[in-house]
Amino acid sequence: MTTARHTRQLAAVLEVVGDADDHPTAEDVYTRVRCRLPRVSLGTVYRNLQKLVAQQRLRVVQLPHRAARYDSMLQPHDHFLCERCGTLTDWVREDRPQLDSSALDQAGYLVHAHSLTLYGVCPDCRAAAPHRGVGRDRRRHR
Ligand SMILES: [Zn+2]
Ligand SMILES: [Zn+2]
Repeated sequence: MTTARHTRQLAAVLEVVGDADDHPTAEDVYTRVRCRLPRVSLGTVYRNLQKLVAQQRLRVVQLPHRAARYDSMLQPHDHFLCERCGTLTDWVREDRPQLDSSALDQAGYLVHAHSLTLYGVCPDCRAAAPHRGVGRDRRRHR
């Protein structure tokens, strides 16, 4: 495999995530990159995503029990996750508060960053089924 091909694959992965507004998973990125570079493999896409995260050109949003999502917005921001459709939305605030981590500081922890995720139902899902419950209610009826 040539260096030029490596560079093209890396650039395609970066562009796909940069163009996306849905915080794609690695599989989503793979599907989209494959439209441009049909011979790319999922493993290559994974490696390029990891490289771009390590180079701080992309961020990764890791949510419990869900596939990692990739994010091209580099400024610190938070997210809203729709529990029905899985849509992850940026929650950007001009006055994003710093959390008080003094208790951790005093205990010797070094805090680099914080990231909040709010959970609920997005406007589209609310419009589609306004009275359907989420979370605990939904599980109880299963
Ligand atoms: Zn939704
Ligand atoms: Zn984001």
